[in-house]
Amino acid sequence: MDFRLTAEQTAFQSEVTDFIARGLPTGWDAGHASLEDRLAVERDVMKRLAAKRWLALPWPEQYGGLGASPMQQMLFNEQMAYHGVPGTVNMGVAWVGPVVMLYGTDAQKEQYLSRIADGTDLWCTLYSEPVAGSDLAAMQTRAVRDGDDYVINGQKVWTTFGHYADWGWLAARTDPNAPKHKGISTFAIKMDTPGITVRPLTNMAGTHEFNEIFFEDVRIPAANLVGEENRGWYNVAVGLDFERSSIGATSNARRMVDDLVAHLRTVNGRTSDAVRHRMAEHAIGVQLLRNMAYYIASQQEKTGIAPTRESQMAKLFGAEMQQRIAATAVQVFGMEGQAAQAGSQALDYHYALLRSVANTIEGGTSEIQRSVIATRGLGLPRE
Ligand SMILES: Cc1cc2nc3c(=O)[nH]c(=O)nc-3n(C[C@H](O)[C@H](O)[C@H](O)COP(=O)(O)OP(=O)(O)OC[C@H]3O[C@@H](n4cnc5c(N)ncnc54)[C@H](O)[C@@H]3O)c2cc1C
Repeated sequence: MDFRLTAEQTAFQSEVTDFIARGLPTGWDAGHASLEDRLAVERDVMKRLAAKRWLALPWPEQYGGLGASPMQQMLFNEQMAYHGVPGTVNMGVAWVGPVVMLYGTDAQKEQYLSRIADGTDLWCTLYSEPVAGSDLAAMQTRAVRDGDDYVINGQKVWTTFGHYADWGWLAARTDPNAPKHKGISTFAIKMDTPGITVRPLTNMAGTHEFNEIFFEDVRIPAANLVGEENRGWYNVAVGLDFERSSIGATSNARRMVDDLVAHLRTVNGRTSDAVRHRMAEHAIGVQLLRNMAYYIASQQEKTGIAPTRESQMAKLFGAEMQQRIAATAVQVFGMEGQAAQAGSQALDYHYALLRSVANTIEGGTSEIQRSVIATRGLGLPRE
């Protein structure tokens, strides 16, 4: 396997690192206490990325992107995640836009795409429900056709960015009598539509990232149905077609290891065997995962499809590795993390450990990933 980059890829990588060094708003990495401050920075970064057509990098040029290849996307995501640049996790770009491009009407393309690509509209994803997470097709939120409208009733949960998104990407049941995968449709829903209540959920790290969303007789135009009625399950699956190397998790983990190594070198002579051994394991894990990410992107580049087994492996391994690295970091800093001031490295690791619990849940739990690797990847029979 040859991981050498082409001259074009190396030039792009330099352009990205140069942008991070020079093109971002002042104070983007300062750590912002209030949501408003963080949002303002994130929106500013998004606008700057959009000006370079990097916000929707993989999208075709006609819709505001650069038609980037999976390898180019991965190189971009790698640098952005390593440096912790905000505003690059964008559900509008990742799955709303691609579905609209494939199945949307001309009016929908006109209305939604350019405002996603230029950073004007933020979208949230309204899939999970209290009774439908791993078994997503069990969703119960109803969308009932009534004249020129659909009327939505039900509840969603874990809606990341639901408290400031402009639009929601909603999956709801349109045919309760059909087999569960065949009675779901997807809709664009304006988050300030009357009847929507957004209730904050605070995660165990003390951050408000996600929400519960309640729909009570929410009326939306039938024109907001995206794609065919009752074919929504397939629209949900389209989101999987994008860059799937897990390079973001890899880069976060690599950054944490690099920073920890730098810190431990300053306390030379005081690291225990246990810490040194664990750091060696983390360094191996990070390198391994990076190789996997490059392999997945290069396969996707060659064949147009991300290899499913390796993509699941990278997601699973990366999520669990982040937890292990964060646990080592907290151990290294000891009680300091709990008494630390905002902005300190010790507190960052404390936060990272608490937040990393979600890594093995979001985007598919580790149990589900293991099942898929074992059955679809290794061909092991079910009970
Ligand atoms: C940080 C974060 C952000 C999220 N953001 C969003 C978002 O923006 N929009 C959205 O729609 N959703 C979001 N989610 C929801 C996420 O997709 C679900 O949490 C995830 O799919 C798991 O579903 P669940 O929480 O209902 O757990 P459940 O599916 O109820 O699972 C509970 C436990 O049972 C295990 N389990 C379930 N089924 C099986 C099985 N068949 N075999 C073995 N074990 C099983 C699971 O692994 C897990 O340990 C987010 C979640 C998190 C943590």
